[in-house]
This record gives sequence, C-alpha cells and structure tokens, in this order.
Amino acid sequence: MTELMVVVCMKVVPKPEEIRVDPETRRIERGQVRSEINPPDMNALEVALRLKDLHQARVVILSMGPPLFEEYLRVGLAMGADEVVLLSDQLFAGADTLATTYTLAKGIEKIGQPDLIICGEESSDGATGQVPPGIAEWLDQPQITLVADLEVDLQRQVVRGRREIGGGFEVLEAPMPAVISVKTASNEPRFMDYEIKEDAFTGKNLTVWTHEDIESDKEYIGTPGSPTIVSGFEQAAVRERKRQFLTGARDEVIRKLVDVLREYL
Ligand SMILES: Cc1cc2nc3c(=O)[nH]c(=O)nc-3n(C[C@H](O)[C@H](O)[C@H](O)COP(=O)(O)OP(=O)(O)OC[C@H]3O[C@@H](n4cnc5c(N)ncnc54)[C@H](O)[C@@H]3O)c2cc1C
Repeated sequence: MTELMVVVCMKVVPKPEEIRVDPETRRIERGQVRSEINPPDMNALEVALRLKDLHQARVVILSMGPPLFEEYLRVGLAMGADEVVLLSDQLFAGADTLATTYTLAKGIEKIGQPDLIICGEESSDGATGQVPPGIAEWLDQPQITLVADLEVDLQRQVVRGRREIGGGFEVLEAPMPAVISVKTASNEPRFMDYEIKEDAFTGKNLTVWTHEDIESDKEYIGTPGSPTIVSGFEQAAVRERKRQFLTGARDEVIRKLVDVLREYL
C-alpha cells in the first residue's frame, strides 16, 4: 500500500487575552506575550492523526514563524506527528497572507508531494481564513474548506469532506492532492502520548528551513511580498454593564424586573 503523506499547517499565536498591537508599527507585539498553538490547528492535526491511525499516513507539521515556535510545535510530535518543518528567517518577517501562503507553498514543495494539506479554519490572531485557499491557489490544487469530517479513498485517490451547512450537511469530493481547512472544534484533539513525549522534545525530527532552503523568490516573501497595509486600527468600545440592583419585597422586585425587561422588548 502506498503511504499517504499529510502536511498539517500549524501556527503559534499569542494567547487572545494578551494580544497587544504596537501603535507605531500597527503590528501584533509577539515577544512580550505568552503563546499557544492556534486552537483550530489542533483540530487539523487530529484529523491528520486519525488518517494516520487508519492509513499509516506520514504526518508532517509545517509552520512559518520565529524560532520560539519550536517548543510549541514539538507538542504536535508528542501527539503523534512524525516530523516538524519550521520555516524561519528574518526575511519572512512582515508577511501578509499573500507572502505567508507563498512561503508555505514553497515549503510544501520542498517537503515533497503530499496527498493532503490540512489547515485550521482560521488563526485566532490574524483570523482572515485566507491561508488555506491561498496555498491551494499557489499549488493549483482543489480545496475543501470548513470540513467537520474527512474520508480518504486511496483506491480512487479522492478525499471527501463533510461540511455543515444551514440545516444539514453537504459532502464534497476532490481528487488528491488537495487542500483542506478544518472547522474549529469539530473534534476533540488527543492528548500527548507520554511514551513518545521525551523523544518529541529532545529528538531531531524538527528541521528549520530558511528562504534559501526553500528557494523562495525574495520579492515574494516578508515585507516586499506583502501588498497589504494596515492603514489604522481602533479599540472597540467596551459596553459598560448597568449593574442595577432591585430591592424591596419579592412581588415588588418581580414587578420592577418586568418593567426593566419591558424596556428591551
Ligand atoms: C501588513 C501585515 C503585516 C504583518 N506582519 C506580520 C509580522 O511581522 N509577523 C507576523 O507573525 N505576522 C504578521 N502579519 C500577520 C500575518 O499576515 C498573518 O498572521 C498570516 O498571513 C496568516 O494569516 P492569518 O493569521 O489570517 O491566518 P488564517 O488564514 O486565518 O489561518 C488559517 C490557517 O492557516 C494556517 N496558517 C496560518 N498562518 C500560518 C503560519 N504562519 N504557519 C503555518 N500555518 C499557518 C493554519 O492552519 C491556520 O489555522 C501581518 C499581517 C499584515 C496584514
């Protein structure tokens, strides 16, 4: 049986409650905050690991980001992934989604010819949801977005994704290789396997590639490859609670409460 190769794109993001934007550069300050694996990417990894359980797939985690991502990505190894490839280079900094998808696509081409590229639905920081379709465009591959379940027919070399739509489901089929994005919270990611944990955090199955390793065009990566401009940002107004206390006898409080609620009907 031919082995299925699956690349899972995973991003490390600042914890949502700690996100701060630098008013000068209008960029997220990543250095000062605690990070985590983008939660939807854990759902994407779980989908890939289930394919590994069923079809002996080789699962490669791919990420673009600074060296601090390494520790986090090793969690994916401890969950059962076979390898991590981190694309890390000063020249990748400042990438918008166009440059990010180009860089990830070049990384995928260097990894080989995966049958499936599985992403999360969106990141919790950038949250554009543009990366999976962007990778599909660069690689000229079909895509199925927002799938809750995935099935692979190795004989026919097709992938079937089940997507939730208003009031039901639809099932889309695409020839492999294909790009998939996985609906957030569509599964329960497994825990780390403590038998492989030590190896995962000390082993050599993590490779870092620079722009030279993936033979990327400098015009297409980082800031030069990013036509998006963050032209401004503003703090969303936080609505204060009214904190109204109703006092009196029980029936009186009920009457007051009904009057208050009536204002909102
Ligand atoms: C002008 C501009 C400048 C920016 N500068 C920087 C910067 O200097 N540093 C910086 O870190 N970000 C920067 N960003 C943010 C950066 O563009 C996005 O984080 C990145 O393009 C991914 O987009 P997203 O977060 O919307 O991903 P989405 O499309 O919402 O993510 C969907 C899925 O794609 C995959 N994915 C997304 N990003 C990655 C990744 N990096 N590696 C692997 N898989 C991934 C994951 O599976 C994820 O669940 C900048 C953005 C803009 C607009």
